[in-house]
Amino acid sequence: MKKQSDDSKENRAESNSKNHAPVNRRDFLKTAGRFLALSVLGATFLKFIKLKSPVTVWQIDPKKCIHCGLCATECVLNQSAVRCVHDKDVCGFCKLCGGYHRPNASRLDTAAESQLCPTGAIQRTFIEDPYYEYSINEDLCNGCAKCVKGCASFGNGSLYLQVRHHICAGCNECRLAMKCPAQAITLVTTDNAYWKEEG
Ligand code: SF4
Ligand code: SF4
Ligand code: SF4
Repeated sequence: MKKQSDDSKENRAESNSKNHAPVNRRDFLKTAGRFLALSVLGATFLKFIKLKSPVTVWQIDPKKCIHCGLCATECVLNQSAVRCVHDKDVCGFCKLCGGYHRPNASRLDTAAESQLCPTGAIQRTFIEDPYYEYSINEDLCNGCAKCVKGCASFGNGSLYLQVRHHICAGCNECRLAMKCPAQAITLVTTDNAYWKEEG
């Protein structure tokens, strides 16, 4: 009698598992499907919001900059995120470069004592008499603006300072912007990230 009852319990369990297993799998797949659809919808929505919200970066307006030198010392990073940029379309390729040579240099050569840049970040290459090309090694530049001032005073103004966005920490309040005496540093949207001379 006991064996009969055990057998019937086993049968019921087996039948239950046969009846319920497919339903559970279906439910599981349905739930997983809904979860996946919701995740995809959520990700798409976030992407949409990101695309819609304007992203901003700090930018220097070279026309306002008065080359005060604070960009080299006031950035929160050890080596300032501000570096010198050279617009070669504007450069005169001059033999005597106001951004490269010290005003009192006795010779117009590449000797260290002839150079204005304190870190040797400007490279001078002979093109043909009397033209020379000047290139900035941004890794060495500290944004001191000495060359920018020299070029603005004696040259075409092809050297200027800019916040390099791949280095900048993107502080909510840029310490340079707060300290800049010329209010030359402002937030702009990323589609205008780098200043470019108009026309
Ligand atoms: S702090 Fe302002 S004025 Fe001074 S070097 Fe930087 S951008 Fe130019
Ligand atoms: S003079 Fe100053 S701003 Fe110009 S390249 Fe050298 S370190 Fe940079
Ligand atoms: S936002 Fe911060 S890291 Fe970038 S230039 Fe300004 S102070 Fe330097």
